[in-house]
Amino acid sequence: MSKLLRVLIVEDSEDDAELLAIELERGGYEIHCERVETELDMHTALDKKVSWDIVLADYALPNFSAIAALDILKNYQLDLPFIIVSGKIGEDTAIAAMKAGAHDYLLKGKLARLVPAVERELREAIVRQEHRQAQERLEYLAYYDDLTTLPNRTLFLESLGKQISQNKLLHKEGYSFAVLLLNIDRFRVIKYSLGHSLSEQLLIAAAKRIKKCLTQQDILARINADEFAIILADITKEKEVEARAEEIYNQFLTPFELQETIVFSTVSMGIVLSSIGYEQPEKLLQAADTAMHYAKFDALKNLVFFHEVMHTLAVERLQLESDLQQAINYKRLHLNYQPIVSLYTGMVDSFEALVRWEHHSLGSIDPENFISLSEETGLIIPLGKWVLREACQQLNNWKQCSFRYLPLSISVNISGIQLSHPKLLGQIDEILQSLQLEGKYLKLEITESNLMENSVTITKVLEKLKEREIKLCIDDFGTGYSSLSYLRYLPIDTVKIDRSFIVKNKNDPNYDIVKAIVNLAHSLGLDVIAEGIETELQLNILRELGCEYGQGYLFASPLDSQATFKLMKSGLRIC
Ligand code: C2E
Ligand code: MG
Ligand code: MG
Repeated sequence: MSKLLRVLIVEDSEDDAELLAIELERGGYEIHCERVETELDMHTALDKKVSWDIVLADYALPNFSAIAALDILKNYQLDLPFIIVSGKIGEDTAIAAMKAGAHDYLLKGKLARLVPAVERELREAIVRQEHRQAQERLEYLAYYDDLTTLPNRTLFLESLGKQISQNKLLHKEGYSFAVLLLNIDRFRVIKYSLGHSLSEQLLIAAAKRIKKCLTQQDILARINADEFAIILADITKEKEVEARAEEIYNQFLTPFELQETIVFSTVSMGIVLSSIGYEQPEKLLQAADTAMHYAKFDALKNLVFFHEVMHTLAVERLQLESDLQQAINYKRLHLNYQPIVSLYTGMVDSFEALVRWEHHSLGSIDPENFISLSEETGLIIPLGKWVLREACQQLNNWKQCSFRYLPLSISVNISGIQLSHPKLLGQIDEILQSLQLEGKYLKLEITESNLMENSVTITKVLEKLKEREIKLCIDDFGTGYSSLSYLRYLPIDTVKIDRSFIVKNKNDPNYDIVKAIVNLAHSLGLDVIAEGIETELQLNILRELGCEYGQGYLFASPLDSQATFKLMKSGLRIC
């Protein structure tokens, strides 16, 4: 089958043009050609929007020339293969033609060269086109986010720079624009539990929802995996920014439906107004980022405006993050062990491992102050792995000392992010195998709120843990507002009642709640641990209610490993 070739022939002689066409047909092409001999003809031919494959041009025509034709092609931004076919051509003219953009030249008397030259030029045109496309793609990727097709961080900062200069030129004072940084809450958890493809779809859908709230002048960019930045242009009042930001926030109140999966995702937003007077775009974005972190940590606020005092605090936080990284790398963490006591026998039944960080200058930092930081930065994964190994290693040490009262078990706290991490099961297997420890000696404590976050995926992981005989405990029970009946759907062994529910006396309004939790747990065959027992009175009430285990300062605070050994030697009786 012959190949269609669309040829534009720049030639004043009809006969010469005919000869070219015949030669090409002989070479196996089906020719669609048009002859042009003036500038006007050339424009008309190009305006027809035929996608021409090649141009064959005489060097000089009475009212036109190959060089002029090349100029026109340039104006049309067309890079077509261009071969000069001339009666005679000198070296100088050939060089001039090639410089002007012609790809080859040949003499009318030697048309046998035409077909091979056309074939070669067509091949080279394809190579040039591929190269151009790769170049365009690189340029696109330098400025745009491929997934959402939104501008990326670089383009956003450029636009922000322009906005700042424009503001200065117009001597605008007051709130002429605002920068918003929007972060999708718990994106890491969503990504691990829903998988790559659904989390990408969530980002595309989120971008669409945000766009709905923006005007033509506003700019939306995706600047990080889970972060969008917005310039709200033409703002006159702080209240106006707040209303616009709330409108964006409200877009996330409706859950996303992605491939029949319902995903609920809130956002945290930091806002900075141009009136702050920062002249570097990076500084403005950084300020919005700082405010966004405040929104993230304030359970009551989702939108926070930047104030300069926040800056100092942000620097301290950054320092803490890098210190924590070092502490994990150089093992400057240690575990304390708090006894969990049988309320009937007074004997220690197990220990809960609680991580401690001895900071080189700040002293001891409570886990409540660095676990959330580690969850936010992803450091919880190496930290959690270290805790698991260290706790299991400790249990092994106890076993090797063959205290009479063993076997004990050890409880380790697991964050929701760890639970959603695809490598968790592999890591646990590796730790248990390397220490030759059976799964039944390990208990994982998972807070109630983490279990509620993504019940389907998490339940699957819990079932896998149960297959390994690992015990599961729902921690801080009562704080997550889950209904009691929800317990029956989880493959757990133990309920640990949060210390805020531990009743001070019999008239305490929490008395009935604790009673209901204990009864329901027992009817489902689960053990109950009460945490935070500090007084004899509390202990007695819990005994009366039938709660079998307890933990708290009344028995012992979390102990370092030496103190734990001592306790074991003395027989593990606490009360
Ligand atoms: P949690 O798992 O509920 O641990 C119990 C917390 O209550 C511990 O605080 C413990 O020291 C404290 N406590 C024990 N008895 C009493 C008492 O009688 N009265 C009072 N008021 N408090 C008592 P800690 O060690 O500061 O840990 C706080 C939280 O940090 C833990 O709560 C747990 O959620 C988290 N955490 C600790 N270690 C780890 C860890 O290795 N990994 C993870 N993911 N989280 C951890
Ligand atoms: Mg715990
Ligand atoms: Mg707890």
